[in-house]
Amino acid sequence: MVKAVIFDLDDTLFSEKKYIESGYQHIAKLLSKRYEKDEAEIFELLMELFRNSPMNVFNRLLDTLGISYTNKYIIELVEEYRNHLPNIEFYNDVLPFLEFLKKRKIKVGIITDGYANAQRQKLKSVKAVNHFDEIIVTDELGRDFWKPHPKAFEIMKHKLNVEFNEMVYVGDNPEKDFYIRSVYPIKTIRINRNGVHAQKNYLNGVQENHLIYLLSELESLFVNNFI
Ligand SMILES: [Mg+2]
Repeated sequence: MVKAVIFDLDDTLFSEKKYIESGYQHIAKLLSKRYEKDEAEIFELLMELFRNSPMNVFNRLLDTLGISYTNKYIIELVEEYRNHLPNIEFYNDVLPFLEFLKKRKIKVGIITDGYANAQRQKLKSVKAVNHFDEIIVTDELGRDFWKPHPKAFEIMKHKLNVEFNEMVYVGDNPEKDFYIRSVYPIKTIRINRNGVHAQKNYLNGVQENHLIYLLSELESLFVNNFI
């Protein structure tokens, strides 16, 4: 019987693209003041550069604008991006699904990778502490403990006081979100939100137990005891 459902954060509970847009809006505002340039133009340029490649977007932006910079300056902009309080919200199906789980006395948690400051700001923006029993930011355990490392799942099991075979993990990234089922008997659900990881390959070929497109599909799996 399922006693706990644990979620990934980015592209599972909210749109990572919305987060990236929010970060670029923040940077566009900052740079428009510094260089007296049009904020909307800088934002559009950032989005265009990102669509071409997600690598070194700030370097390429400054190159395009003809602004000279140092590595230290790029790091400062990256820090600004990661520390900004993003304008993001849960996907529409998240809060109804959490209500559904709470009615069934099923505990809920989050295990998320990513830079700790950035993840904490995302969690703050969506007021995650009001909705989840336990939240683990793997970066706070150390860079080596990002998924697919099993440590966060071991800690979550202990904190929620459940067994591995009573846990379900819902994520979107084939490179690291479903591999855990080859380590522990945790059931894994892939939610395909058409996010940044949609085209990636499965780590060691380990696939999810179930593929869904909306969390309401998971409600049906629960109701029909398919999980
Ligand atoms: Mg994700």
